[in-house]
Amino acid sequence: MRWSQYFLPTLKETPAEAQIASHRLMLRAGMIRQSSAGIYAWLPLGLRVLRKIENIVRAEQNAAGCIEMLMSTLQPAELWRESGRYDAYGPEMLRFTDRHEREMLYGPTNEEQITEIFRASVRSYRQLPRLLYHIQWKFRDEIRPRFGVMRGREFLMKDAYSFDLDRAGAIRAYNKMFICYLRTFEKMGLKAIPMRAETGPIGGDLSHEFVILAETGESEIAYHRDLGSFNLAQAAIDYEGDLQPMVDSFTAKYAATDSERDPVREAALGDALVTGRGIEVGHIFYFGTKYSKAMNAVVAGPDGEESAVEMGSYGIGVSRLVGAAIEAFHDDSGILWPEALAPFRVGLINLKADDAACTAGCERIYQDLLTRGCEVLYDDRPERPGVKFADMDLIGLPHQIIVGPRGLAKDLIEVKDRRTGARIEMTTEAAVAAVAG
Ligand code: ATP
Ligand code: MG
Repeated sequence: MRWSQYFLPTLKETPAEAQIASHRLMLRAGMIRQSSAGIYAWLPLGLRVLRKIENIVRAEQNAAGCIEMLMSTLQPAELWRESGRYDAYGPEMLRFTDRHEREMLYGPTNEEQITEIFRASVRSYRQLPRLLYHIQWKFRDEIRPRFGVMRGREFLMKDAYSFDLDRAGAIRAYNKMFICYLRTFEKMGLKAIPMRAETGPIGGDLSHEFVILAETGESEIAYHRDLGSFNLAQAAIDYEGDLQPMVDSFTAKYAATDSERDPVREAALGDALVTGRGIEVGHIFYFGTKYSKAMNAVVAGPDGEESAVEMGSYGIGVSRLVGAAIEAFHDDSGILWPEALAPFRVGLINLKADDAACTAGCERIYQDLLTRGCEVLYDDRPERPGVKFADMDLIGLPHQIIVGPRGLAKDLIEVKDRRTGARIEMTTEAAVAAVAG
C-alpha cells in the first residue's frame, strides 16, 4: 500500500478525551474515530488489526472443532422474556420497537437466540455434541463507556456456545475452549492468565476469565508466577483427547481477580505470588441447563429419555483486544505491534521522494516485497524525514526500511527494528530478505 493513496489520518497532538495509552494511540495512529460515546468507526489501519485478531480467533476456534455461523445483531424481545432475562438485564440493553410496534433489542449476547435455533432443529443425542460460534457486533449501553474500544458500547465479540447431553460432555467442551483460549491469545503474542471468575448475569457454576497484564487494567489480579510461563502455541493439541489433566495443571495454581482473591493463599505463595492489574479479554462459562430448561430445549438420550441440553458459552472481546494489545506493547513514540497483529509487516520510508534515483530504488524494493507476499506500507509522501519517522514509529509496524539517496548510491539502506530500535545498514537485497519473513 502506498501511503499517498491510503487513508491514514495521523494526529500530532494528543487528543484530550483519551485517558489511556491505547485510546490515545488508536486515535493518533488513525485507527479509529469516535462516532458517539463508546461507538467507533474503524478506519483502514484499525480494521486491518481487527481482522487479524478475528482471523486468529477463527482459525483457533475451527481447530478446536467449533463451527462458524452468523446470528443477527437485532433480536426479538420475546426470546428474552422466555429466559427471564428481558427484565433482569436492565438498562445495559438497548431496546426499541419496529414500525409494527414489535419489541426488539440490539443483542448484548446470544444465549437465547442460539438456544432457539438449536431447539428448533436438534432432538436427539446423535446430533451432539456441538460447538457453534459467531463473530458479531454487540451493543451494551455501558454506564461509563471509556478507554476507547476497551469498554465500548458497540463492540465486536466472538461468542461460542456448546451443546451436550450431560454434564461430563459439557465439561469436555469447556476444557476444549479453555485450552483453545490459551493458544489463541498466545498466537497473538499475548499471554492471558486464566482466572476463576464469578458467573454474573449469565449464571452457572463454572467460569474462568482470561486476563492479560497491563497497568491500566480494570481489575486487580494475583496469580502464581508459573502461570505466566506456559507455551501452548507450538504444542500439538488433541482436542478430542482428555484435556482434563492439562486444564487441571492450570487451575491447580492460584489465580484470582478482585472479589475472588484469597489473602490466606496469597500469603502462603510468598515469592511465587505475582500481583498487578489486568484486562479481561475472554470469559468462559458452563451454565448447564439454565437456558435450555427455561426455553425448553430438550434432546432424547440413547434410552429415549428426554432431558434439557447442557450448555456453556465462551466469549472473546475481539475489538477490546486491539486496545489491550496496545496497552501491553507501546512506548513513548507509539505502538509496538507483535508481528501477528501488525497492520502491515514492513514500513518502507522514502527519505527524498523528489529524488528520482531514491524513488526508483524505493519502487524496486516495494515491488520486490509485494512479489514476496509481504505486507508493506510504502511512505512515498512528499514529507520531511522527521514527519515520516515519527508517523512510522507511531503506527508501530515491526520492521522499517529507510532509504535515502546517499546510502542508496552505495547500495546501502537501513533496516530498523521498531521494538528494539536497532538500526542496521544492509544492501538492498539483504534488507528485503531480512524483513520479508
Ligand atoms: P466486563 O467484566 O469487562 O464488563 P463482561 O463479563 O460483561 O465483561 P462477557 O459477557 O464475558 O463480558 O463478554 C465476553 C468478552 O467481551 C469479555 O471478556 C470482554 O473481552 C468483551 N467485552 C465485554 N464488554 C465489553 C465492552 N463494553 N467493550 C468491549 N469489549 C467488551
Ligand atoms: Mg466478565
